[in-house]
Amino acid sequence: MENNLVTTAYIVASALFILSLAGLSQPETAKRGNLLGILGMAIAFAATAAISQGYPIQIGSIGLGVLIGVLAASRVAMTDMPEMVALLNSFVGLAAVLVGFAEYLQPSAALSGGDVIVHRVEIYIGVFIGIVTFTGSMIAVAKLRGWVPSRAVLLPARHVLTLGMLGAIAALGVPFLTAIGDMPMIALGAMTAIAGIFGIVIVMAIGGADMAVVISLLNSYSGLASAAAGFMLNNDLLIITGALVGSSGAILSYIMCKGMNRSFINVVLGGFGETASGTVKSAAIEGSATSTTTGEVVDLLANAQSVVIVPGYGMAVAQAQHAVAEITRLLRGQGKQVRFGIHPVAGRMPGHMNVLLAEANVPYDIVLEMDEINDDLTATDVVLVVGANDTVNPSAKYDPNSPIAGMPVMEVWEASTVVVLKRGMSSGYAGVENPLFFNDNTLMLFGDAKTNVNGILAQLSTTNAPAPALAAA
Ligand code: NDP
Repeated sequence: MENNLVTTAYIVASALFILSLAGLSQPETAKRGNLLGILGMAIAFAATAAISQGYPIQIGSIGLGVLIGVLAASRVAMTDMPEMVALLNSFVGLAAVLVGFAEYLQPSAALSGGDVIVHRVEIYIGVFIGIVTFTGSMIAVAKLRGWVPSRAVLLPARHVLTLGMLGAIAALGVPFLTAIGDMPMIALGAMTAIAGIFGIVIVMAIGGADMAVVISLLNSYSGLASAAAGFMLNNDLLIITGALVGSSGAILSYIMCKGMNRSFINVVLGGFGETASGTVKSAAIEGSATSTTTGEVVDLLANAQSVVIVPGYGMAVAQAQHAVAEITRLLRGQGKQVRFGIHPVAGRMPGHMNVLLAEANVPYDIVLEMDEINDDLTATDVVLVVGANDTVNPSAKYDPNSPIAGMPVMEVWEASTVVVLKRGMSSGYAGVENPLFFNDNTLMLFGDAKTNVNGILAQLSTTNAPAPALAAA
């Protein structure tokens, strides 16, 4: 009877997770999707705790985990969210490793004959995926925080090294599955150490603009790690949730690869813009940048009929989205066409800009993907680039030697005038210089994006009658 109830609870939780993913695919339904996911997880917790031995320990550990999770998530700044997601991925990997070792030392079910071998295969694969996810995600956190270089770091003879490591990992599987005594434990420990280094080496070798794909790939690995833990523990719900996370992460990685014009293999083999002899140099940039003022930008906007706003990571740092949304409301109130152009890897996590703009209540129908708006930029009067850099870099299109050559970008230079809001001339995440800043039709509005957008907003407001509600225009 108890088992039937738990099975029913697991089926309901699985259905809620699927509905949650469906909801998360659209900005309009994302909040509902999130709530369905929380409800599914609450049901899963309750059902798992109900069948667990050591009930108080389960409740205590779940309670402590919930407390730490709620505190961490509510305190983390929006700009640090990508690191938090990468850190959470790493915990899933670590959990799979710990479950693997625990299952080897004290299997949760009595097994005999061929089942023992099958169980050990599950443990070996689960620990391998888990440790690669753990160390790879830790390196991703370090890269995002700037603790290690964000560019690709390539070891000499790295392909030989990685093949050697993979060979050793496969070879150690033999004593783990067949030996007796202490040998299997030694083999499992050695494999864990080597696979941990393997995770570090492969993620260190991926850098610059490719990091976006790595984040979603590691997310997918974390799903595989939990599915592996589900096989080890014979828990169907873990297998289902792991498969959902693994497959959705893989689909997202594929979409991001397409957005970057890169293949999975190229990304995983690493080194966007790197060669064995070092970083490829892009063409030298000539000319000088022209700086402008908020007053001049207000005049430009006053005379424009069509405006496109291209946000990037700097908008997240400056938290300028609310002021940007206010400007949008004012300009639309004057009958101008204002739209947003979003690059698939803008910011530091998938969907970063969409989240910020939704938070500022920008209507979804004026937030367009890069492919939807790129062709319209030629007919646009003013493009405001708010804290974007790599994603608007023309060298990706025109300089075959650029480290980001071939990556599709927002072709903002096609507009009549481009205004770039950033603090100085520094490069973006990929560390590549940007010739856009030196174009004749580009004006640089230097300073913190929020301060400058607020400055533009203040001047626009004084010349305006009260504007209608944002969503109504
Ligand atoms: P970039 O990282 O290329 O550039 C951001 C720019 O914002 C910087 O050049 C910086 O210039 C400016 N900036 C920073 N703070 C402020 C501020 N307070 N006010 C105004 N400007 C500011 O951003 P993009 O969004 O164009 O590109 C994203 C990059 O990150 C891509 O290379 C992508 O591959 C990578 N990436 C993306 C991930 C994702 O999932 N989306 C994950 C990991 C990496 P300055 O210092 O002069 O102000």
